[in-house]
Amino acid sequence: MKALVYGGPGKKSWEEKAKPLLLHPSDAIVRITRTTICGTDLHILKGDVPAVEKGRILGHEGVGVIEEVGQGVQSFKKGDRCLISCITSCGRCAPCKSERYSHCENGGWVLGHLIDGTQAEYVRIPFADTSLYRIPEGVDEAPLVTLSDTFPTGFEVGVLNGKVSLGKTVAIVGAGPIGIAALLTAKLFSPEAIYLIDRDLFRLELARSFGATETVDAGARDPVAAIKEWTGKGVDVAIEAVGTPATFDICQNILAPGGRLAVVGVFGESVTLRLEKLWIENVTLTTGLVDTKTIPLLLRMVLAGRLDAGKLITHRFPLDQIEQAYETFSQAAREKALKIVLQK
Ligand code: NAD
Ligand code: ZN
Ligand code: ZN
Repeated sequence: MKALVYGGPGKKSWEEKAKPLLLHPSDAIVRITRTTICGTDLHILKGDVPAVEKGRILGHEGVGVIEEVGQGVQSFKKGDRCLISCITSCGRCAPCKSERYSHCENGGWVLGHLIDGTQAEYVRIPFADTSLYRIPEGVDEAPLVTLSDTFPTGFEVGVLNGKVSLGKTVAIVGAGPIGIAALLTAKLFSPEAIYLIDRDLFRLELARSFGATETVDAGARDPVAAIKEWTGKGVDVAIEAVGTPATFDICQNILAPGGRLAVVGVFGESVTLRLEKLWIENVTLTTGLVDTKTIPLLLRMVLAGRLDAGKLITHRFPLDQIEQAYETFSQAAREKALKIVLQK
């Protein structure tokens, strides 16, 4: 089969790899029909995630069709359509029992990280019963690839950790797919205002068309001054959806007393924490790796027509053009790109 293989920082190639085999009775082999590229894949290629070894097949998002299941798999059979969670969970360990699937003792974020991932024609999914979700008959699978990681992350690590609720003011730094997913799910709670900060004018325009109250082009204007101008004391919730010291710093400078800073971004370096300012303002800081425990809820919201998951998709490429797709995603502003779907 063909797969996108990591070759060390800055290197990747679409090459021939052995088709995965069942290794454990709880495994399934999935034929990928759709996959996508995450900001985290760009971090891996920059060398920000050193646990990823050369030779690893990248990718942790996807939908597909069950090709084969191990003897222990009970919920899926050959031919079933499924959504792949970016988090693999055994369902039995202590973290899984408390819905902290990202810290599953037998899984967690392993796909495209510690084991081969989804940017391939086939992928082996461990603990298939608890790591895959069935796609109901008749449902269009095209938008669902955004439910593997993008929507659960923006929702759980951004909106829920940030405790967005009725009447709050919210700023989201980073209008990438994760930041926009946070915007779309934050709107479900009717906050008073949602401000988006980025320096990609296309993504900011999309954010406005999706309901952002105001946007700030961080390349042209000081976002801290803009937020203070609109809110006075600052926002109740700041969601960091980039993963750089500069954007973390914006977040810690735009919070009102009692505010919450929900960090979603993946960081490859340390930041300066302004604790001397934050403690007296009763600011709460949260971080986290997504658990994807809200996939069933998000799936229901999509099926009910309450969440338009396909809104994020701006580009589609055939799977074997994934290297061009990476080029487009990494030049998102120039290419006017948000989420890119690879299809087979
Ligand atoms: P992305 O790279 O597409 O988006 C990042 C956005 O940040 C871009 O639109 C870019 O223009 C903007 N940006 C960069 N520097 C900026 C600056 N100085 N000021 C303002 N804007 C700036 O990534 P994405 O797919 O949306 O992911 C966002 C982050 O979430 C990444 O760090 C990714 O690794 C992380 N992530 C975390 C989890 C988790 O479980 N915590 C899961 C998935 C992704
Ligand atoms: Zn991801
Ligand atoms: Zn577990």
